[in-house]
Amino acid sequence: MRVLLVEDEADIADALARFLRAQGHAVDHAPDLGTAQAALDVAKFDAILLDIALPDGSGLTLLRDQRRGKNRVPVIIATARDQISERIAGLDAGADDYVVKPYDLAEIAARLRAHGRRASGDPAAESYVGTLKVDRAGARLFRGADEIRLTSREWALFDALLSARGRVLSKQVLEDRLYAYGDAVEGNAVEVYVSRLRSKIGADAIQTRRGLGYLIP
Ligand code: CA
Repeated sequence: MRVLLVEDEADIADALARFLRAQGHAVDHAPDLGTAQAALDVAKFDAILLDIALPDGSGLTLLRDQRRGKNRVPVIIATARDQISERIAGLDAGADDYVVKPYDLAEIAARLRAHGRRASGDPAAESYVGTLKVDRAGARLFRGADEIRLTSREWALFDALLSARGRVLSKQVLEDRLYAYGDAVEGNAVEVYVSRLRSKIGADAIQTRRGLGYLIP
């Protein structure tokens, strides 16, 4: 998933971004509202993790703007433990979920996956691609009893295609899902990952639509 992380405390943001990247998410970090807004103007995100107290204002302002603009991207707000009123205001402003600071990294990752599944229209934690069993909650893949080990980027590509199952995703869309702004991207990165994935899960699992992109049927 491509995640916009809006958080002004650099240490916390770094730790969180590193953790999420290791899980295959593309993370754009914005330390304030202005940067977050600029990122939202140019890129499409699968989820926003939104701190409330930011140097140039409240995260709720950004949340309300997004909802007013009919942007339905899943938004998870981060609130302080004792700020129940803040949590309520956030949910009323259109947040889908909240986490309590200090962040629990594994909990955030699980919530992101859950919202990603729901946004894709298939909230089930398990699904099948041909004979492959996909544990989407645990980000694991099995053929029979054998686990097929994917790298975090391979999983991210697989998950993006699975979330849009039956629809063709262009190379550009996939690249945007896999890489954050400023990441060094090789021109043929998507082709390379598709080919690695096919060698692990079977050539037929991912179809090519020449000139259009790829899909999991
Ligand atoms: Ca803050």
